[in-house]
Amino acid sequence: MINAPRRSLASLPTPVSALPRLTELLGGPQLFIKRDDQTGLGLGGNKTRKLEFLVGEALAQGADTLVTAGAAQSNHCRQTAAAAAVSGLECHLLLGGSAPESVQGNLLLDQLFGAQIRWCGQHRKGEDLAEHVRLLEDRGRRPYVVPYGGSNAVGALGYVGAIHELVQQITEPMTHIIFASSSGGTQAGLMVGAAQTWLKTRLVGINIDKTGAADYADEVADLASRTADRIHLGRAFGTDEVTLRSDYLGEGYGIMGAAEREAMELTARHEGILLDPVYTGRAMAGLIGMIRAGEFAPDDRVLFWHTGGTPALFAYAEQLTKPSNQ
Ligand SMILES: *Cc1c(COP(=O)(O)O)cnc(C)c1O
Repeated sequence: MINAPRRSLASLPTPVSALPRLTELLGGPQLFIKRDDQTGLGLGGNKTRKLEFLVGEALAQGADTLVTAGAAQSNHCRQTAAAAAVSGLECHLLLGGSAPESVQGNLLLDQLFGAQIRWCGQHRKGEDLAEHVRLLEDRGRRPYVVPYGGSNAVGALGYVGAIHELVQQITEPMTHIIFASSSGGTQAGLMVGAAQTWLKTRLVGINIDKTGAADYADEVADLASRTADRIHLGRAFGTDEVTLRSDYLGEGYGIMGAAEREAMELTARHEGILLDPVYTGRAMAGLIGMIRAGEFAPDDRVLFWHTGGTPALFAYAEQLTKPSNQ
């Protein structure tokens, strides 16, 4: 269906299930969840679907090394390191910040997967990638750059496929799909995939870290158009087709506030499902906020797309064990 090189990395399909206890607790629309925290590779997450196409392209081009960038607790970097390991590729990660005293969460896993880490200070979004690629080429390596967040028209194909997978799993449409949105590949891919199916769903991205929300919607629309072009969909996407909620940015990227913590605790205590403090906790806080604001009808069917990130939980142990009313 998607005509592009692909390296199988994920255990698919990921499960879809109802969230009856959370639905009852919130007195809201019928809630469902799609478990992309269970994509299987190196503790899972949404980057694995993108990496199937990115690593597919890297191998097709004869690359022997993956290079990518992210924050110290980047889920994307951790999944890239695991994808490189299972594919017999070397992995170089350019991480923001400096080497921490205690190694935890995703960073610990990066090291277990054998990734080579370079600390880049303020540059957590790949500013040093070009320079690092030259360095590797000088050493005779054949590097393939995995873009920040795996979000380009190749990586987004993973979420085009994910929508087709979902359509096979459900018999009644969802009125809304809610998910964390940050580098845009997930949202762009979902938009393109949804345009190919009967799924007349409102795709609502909860903006996690972009303060310039209008620009970010432009970027997502542009990426969706380029992704559509790659599969000859014959249609472009406008900014007006991108639904992004920027009212749940909280205290900024990576800072867990009361809303994220409440969302994580409610989901854990009522459904036995773990969310992460950076992405899915914030996205669920957005969904809860929308329910409380009366934005849904009682018979709406709302699917929360779990995008992973749970290894970062352990890096927040201290904040998560403080009394929550402080
Ligand atoms: C990267 C990431 C996202 C955001 O996905 P994008 O495709 O970058 O928008 C959401 N949730 C988790 C857990 C992530 O790691």
